[in-house]
Amino acid sequence: MSDWVNWGAPQKRPSRYDVLFEPVKIGPVTARNRFYQVPHCNGMGYRDPTALAHMRGVKAEGGWAVVCTEQVEFHYSSEITPFIELRLWDERDIPALSRMVDKIHEGGALAGIELAYNGMNGPNLYSREVPMGPAHLPVATFTYDPVQARRMDAEDIRNVRKWHLEAVKRAKRCGFDLIYVYAAHSLGFLHHFLSRRYNQRTDEYGGGIENRIRLLREITEETKAAVGDTCAVPIRISVDELMGEGGLYKEEVEDMIGLMADLPDLWDVTLAGWENDSRTSRFAEEGAQEPFIMGVKRLTSKPVVGVGRYTSVDRMVSLVNKGILDMIGAARPSIADPFLPKKIEEGRFDDIRECIGCNICVSGDFTMSPIRCTQNPTMAEEWRKGWHPEKVRKAKSAKPVLIVGGGPAGLEAAQTLGKRGYSVTLAEVGTELGGRVLKEAKLPGLSAWVRVADYRKLQLHQLANVETYFDSRLTADDVLAFGIPRVAIATGSTWRKDGVGHHHTVAMPISDGAQVLSPGDIMDGRMPSGKRVLIWDDDHYYMGGVMAELMAEKGYDTVYVTPASEASTWTRNTMEQHFIQKRLLEKGVTIRSFTALDAIGVGETVLSCTFTGRQERIATDAVVLVTARLPNEDLFLDLRARQAEWADAGIESVTAFGDALAPATIAHATYAGRRYAEELDGEPLVEGALPFKREITELLPLD
Ligand code: ADP
Ligand code: SF4
Repeated sequence: MSDWVNWGAPQKRPSRYDVLFEPVKIGPVTARNRFYQVPHCNGMGYRDPTALAHMRGVKAEGGWAVVCTEQVEFHYSSEITPFIELRLWDERDIPALSRMVDKIHEGGALAGIELAYNGMNGPNLYSREVPMGPAHLPVATFTYDPVQARRMDAEDIRNVRKWHLEAVKRAKRCGFDLIYVYAAHSLGFLHHFLSRRYNQRTDEYGGGIENRIRLLREITEETKAAVGDTCAVPIRISVDELMGEGGLYKEEVEDMIGLMADLPDLWDVTLAGWENDSRTSRFAEEGAQEPFIMGVKRLTSKPVVGVGRYTSVDRMVSLVNKGILDMIGAARPSIADPFLPKKIEEGRFDDIRECIGCNICVSGDFTMSPIRCTQNPTMAEEWRKGWHPEKVRKAKSAKPVLIVGGGPAGLEAAQTLGKRGYSVTLAEVGTELGGRVLKEAKLPGLSAWVRVADYRKLQLHQLANVETYFDSRLTADDVLAFGIPRVAIATGSTWRKDGVGHHHTVAMPISDGAQVLSPGDIMDGRMPSGKRVLIWDDDHYYMGGVMAELMAEKGYDTVYVTPASEASTWTRNTMEQHFIQKRLLEKGVTIRSFTALDAIGVGETVLSCTFTGRQERIATDAVVLVTARLPNEDLFLDLRARQAEWADAGIESVTAFGDALAPATIAHATYAGRRYAEELDGEPLVEGALPFKREITELLPLD
């Protein structure tokens, strides 16, 4: 008997969705349907090749017709350390990539590779080669590296063309079915040659668009000549850089596409830079790219794929029926739900885990750590922990579980344990499930976050073995009286009001009578009295910026104070920082960076420069402290203090996780809930001393 429970029974799907399951011919290969996982980074790359192979394989299993790699560096003279992407520098990289191709093929999908020569996007910190681009320019990196790229001459151009061609042949040997020519996102030399912003050359590769596309055309022609009989050759291009005629813009790029109309086997159309293409739901609706990409199909007879964080099935169908796209491209929706195509095919709409557009996945790349996802806690854990987004191991005992708290952590634990077959009691103080996401989803721009609760609620509805009790604030006495053997504490956290955070590690001076609020107060509907509100953001993720935005919207004179260099600085990792600061400025918020909040008085606050310590006093009616949270751990501590009574009560274990253990992101909470549920009654997978598998680089001989 199988050790696994496969979740979900097929239902009937409306026939209007059938169009999404038509095969699409892409040059010499055929995609089984219209679902296309476009290239996306994942923070694993060359460091975690087997984990990556499994992650892509699960997407193929989930029904995507095409599953692509992230950027794959194809020559040592252009690498993007410290970012961890894949490499196909030479023959020795082939086995790792072949392993991925095999996993993708096993799942019945076509495998695509995005070959990338980053050129002036990489300072070459590892190889120490001099970067190259169309012009003598400082490298265009997120970190303003003090390195310049040199202008490529005719020989350099010939060399890169040769290296690309050699890499194409290696890619074919890996088994890829689609071999990309990547010219998008401002991330690579081909894009740089297209854009006048970088390319002001006076040779045959600069000037008018015929010249600026010359290199892209040559490389595409060479790629097709080498592998076009068996592999499809897509071009990935950005239709707009969103900077007017100073950068690439729609009309110009449409002319470029027109000139190469049927040269590639597929057009993959995006916006540049990446931050414009992968905007969070706070700053862009589903399908925000549509006005830019809708003209492309009339320029070519080849299939067109594009992204837009699409999760609405009707929207996908209309994109195809209206002739805007042939294939529905997805990175984030495929991360949040690797089984999205299969669920649509099987009419299992209640089982879809919709992407919330938070870009926590992107932060994996920026922090060089394996990708994680708020909605899909199994992401990047498929191999190293043996987790699967749609399958769970059968319960190993009949012992029931009590979960206290129906936030993201408790909900994820409840639905996973329920699917495993455990009998679960979920007790929630409130009258609705969702915990923090219910409240946060009401804040400006965060409405899509409620999907974290929605998906899990819909799963619980299908689980007769999970019983939910509302209006239940459980005490240690209650829990002992229930006598349920396993107790999971997921009671969440509370925003602090003593100013403790990154800057003040002990309580800050606050005068009696000063008006101090926390984000929790605001979310509970308590608004400051007076006109002048100061936000002290020592949390540095989204909440401080959101509070400032809300206060400004409500008409307060809002001053946002941060000891960091900019508003919501951690959101650089979710590619939102620029958008947040812009929005705050446009809403009239005064931003004070490199500034500390030293003391809160009645009617005034004391600020200081974080460098000189020079103080100033400003008139302030109320302060919103966005600093840190404390776990709601009373119940956990009470139960721990009464451990002597557990055995008589029939309790075996009491475990706190999620914010109740240590407050963090929602992604941390869903992961923590999943982990509790995955590991219950099983040995955590242990390799050496680790609870996960780790791939070790093979040692070469010492000399
Ligand atoms: P997490 O992100 O870790 O899931 P949340 O704060 O979102 O944390 O959720 C915690 C949930 O637990 C909230 O819905 C809260 O109402 C509930 N809760 C807190 N304390 C208790 C308790 N003693 N009994 C039952 N539910 C509780
Ligand atoms: Fe979507 Fe957030 Fe998951 Fe990324 S982390 S796929 S944006 S839900």
